[in-house]
Amino acid sequence: MKLVTRKQWGARSPRTAASHLAGTKGVKVHYTGSRVDPRMADDHDRCAALVRQIQNGHMDGNGWNDIGYSFCVCPHRYVFEGRGLHKLPAANGAGLNSGHYAVLGMVGNEGLTVPNDAMLHGIRDAIDHVRAKGGAGKEIKGHRDGYSTDCPGAKLYKWVKDGAPRPKGDPTPEPVPDPETAAAALTLVLDLGTEGSVTVAPGARLSIPWTVEHADPSGLHAAKSAAWLPKAADWHLVTFSAIVTGHQKGERLKLVIGEYERTGNIRLKDHFGEDKIGHGTRTEHTVSGLVWLSGDHGYRADLVNHGAESVTVASARLRIAR
Ligand SMILES: [Zn+2]
Ligand SMILES: [Zn+2]
Repeated sequence: MKLVTRKQWGARSPRTAASHLAGTKGVKVHYTGSRVDPRMADDHDRCAALVRQIQNGHMDGNGWNDIGYSFCVCPHRYVFEGRGLHKLPAANGAGLNSGHYAVLGMVGNEGLTVPNDAMLHGIRDAIDHVRAKGGAGKEIKGHRDGYSTDCPGAKLYKWVKDGAPRPKGDPTPEPVPDPETAAAALTLVLDLGTEGSVTVAPGARLSIPWTVEHADPSGLHAAKSAAWLPKAADWHLVTFSAIVTGHQKGERLKLVIGEYERTGNIRLKDHFGEDKIGHGTRTEHTVSGLVWLSGDHGYRADLVNHGAESVTVASARLRIAR
């Protein structure tokens, strides 16, 4: 399941702790009941923004303790953690919340109204998750079952009545790499470096701030930004190296290429990465790999310090070819 934690989507804290929910009979499916901007279908950044907007509406408009849903699912199969597991939701209506977790499919009654296959898979992912970890039973119902509302809209409700089946096939197959094509005639498209050192505290994850542009012919990197933003999806050969000091003998430091939302701080996934074991001396660590860089997202070179001591990055370099 592609979970986006509350921290990752920038949730506000609940006003008071939600009531504990040991388990439920199952799940009730919802839609937003209002207009959803259709541009969201092609722009995952807008999904987190909508979840934040819904939370604000529930807390400031409805006067609720927190967002009313247990989980919210976007058209890119991401499952945003609402109140989450074992917390009483508020979206099902008074007296009906302890019976079912509330799962929102992020479509509305105008604009984006049709749940795509990725969203249906995501809702199933959330249902499987609350069954496995949240004590949810087998029921899958719509908000309108037992409550006077149009929610979850005709399309989601029909799917619920059909038994909420998983769509056939993978909604977003990743392209299969063709190493021969990828390796032929590689051109350097980005070459970034650093100025001055940065420190990674024990347990911390740090995105390298790229302050030096050795080469950026197509403007993929904005000055001093940690992220680079591909303009079109393609295979790229990414090489990330870091010269570190203070990396204690036997301690693990991970070099990893992470995929993030184009703006904001939400990490979508990690691509290749490698644990490097310290020697106790100044060392250059390198990772290199082929990555499918999507034109929709941003990418960063991150260090994760799994050791007990701070590690200092004296300098780092990022070279990308395609
Ligand atoms: Zn509803
Ligand atoms: Zn999305």
